Amino acid sequence: MSVAYDSVDQTAAAAIRLDAELRRAHPRTILEAAVESFGDKLALVSSFGAESSVLLDIAARVKPDIAVLFLDTGMLFGQTLDYRRNLAERLGLTNVRDLRPAYQDLATADPQAKLWQTDTDACCHVRKVLPLDRALGEFDAWITGRKRFHGGDRLNLPVVEHADGKVKFNPLANWGKSDLDAYAAEHDLPAHPLVAQGFPSIGCWPCTQPAEEGEDVRAGRWKGLDKTECGIHVARAPGTPNNVGGDI
Ligand code: SF4
Repeated sequence: MSVAYDSVDQTAAAAIRLDAELRRAHPRTILEAAVESFGDKLALVSSFGAESSVLLDIAARVKPDIAVLFLDTGMLFGQTLDYRRNLAERLGLTNVRDLRPAYQDLATADPQAKLWQTDTDACCHVRKVLPLDRALGEFDAWITGRKRFHGGDRLNLPVVEHADGKVKFNPLANWGKSDLDAYAAEHDLPAHPLVAQGFPSIGCWPCTQPAEEGEDVRAGRWKGLDKTECGIHVARAPGTPNNVGGDI
């Protein structure tokens, strides 16, 4: 059964109610509740990065045909593209969608594919935010892989939240690194190949470095810049064209 919410107020109220119910629930319980509430109007957004296998495995057990949205920015490591293919096949996920930047947007904003050198926010906007905005148009709710232990803006992450007219589920918000490692070991999940090379968080190749000993998980992302998020998890003012508000 899936539920349709007719207004932003109803959607926000549903998110508050679900967060209260699911605040301490196991990630699988949260995913089951999300599927129960939203059915085919629910998507999971995954980077197929360093910690993605746990959430993807749980999702595959609950609903193998869930829509999995993968942002193929055109700037990903080849290892990530291989991992996305192999992991989806192994887990039996049948509905992984590769989201690519629009040709027109790239021709206008980044014809040389060098925008990341001068304006990372604009580059993320064209290569991540806009493609995800378009894909999320057909969904009422989505699932992310964000966790509190990543720190920064994620320290106060709720399990269920409301952003830009949609419900966002963060089933792993409560889990720490040891929980993830234990689940991956118990289910024999393959690691992203770059983890063994010192990358605890993996995004686009121009903006990802290995983390040093003792640094935060996301320390190698946009290193040296005043930037910690790509923009898909930032709620925007109503009326802006990319109003989605968004494990990336
Ligand atoms: S992470 Fe870097 S290369 Fe990827 S979209 Fe953002 S700025 Fe561009």
